[in-house]
Amino acid sequence: MTEMLITGQCNCGEVRHQSPGPVTRQGICRCPACVRMTGALESPNIGVAPGNLEIVAGMPKAFKHPTSNEMCNSGAFHICPTCGSPLYWTDAGNTEIAVFVGTLDDTGLLAGE
Ligand SMILES: [Zn+2]
Ligand SMILES: [Zn+2]
Repeated sequence: MTEMLITGQCNCGEVRHQSPGPVTRQGICRCPACVRMTGALESPNIGVAPGNLEIVAGMPKAFKHPTSNEMCNSGAFHICPTCGSPLYWTDAGNTEIAVFVGTLDDTGLLAGE
């Protein structure tokens, strides 16, 4: 897992991202912010270090909740400005990036869970 190039994209294909890894963490978030943003009851994601995620096409739009600081609303969601796909999340201090597994070309990265 750590040697592979992790690639992914939004639903319309305008935004593409890639990371050489390594995957620092993997998990599933079920907080209210992630549930609403993704429209799914759980949000599988993998962690990569900031600076290790490269946007190779398009420009994601950052969404920071204007009033709520609860759970993942304390950070920012990054979405495709055209199709609205949530792509990844960054924490408030920009010390971690959580990439939504559903955007990956190889969604089997969490297969071990
Ligand atoms: Zn898109
Ligand atoms: Zn969350």
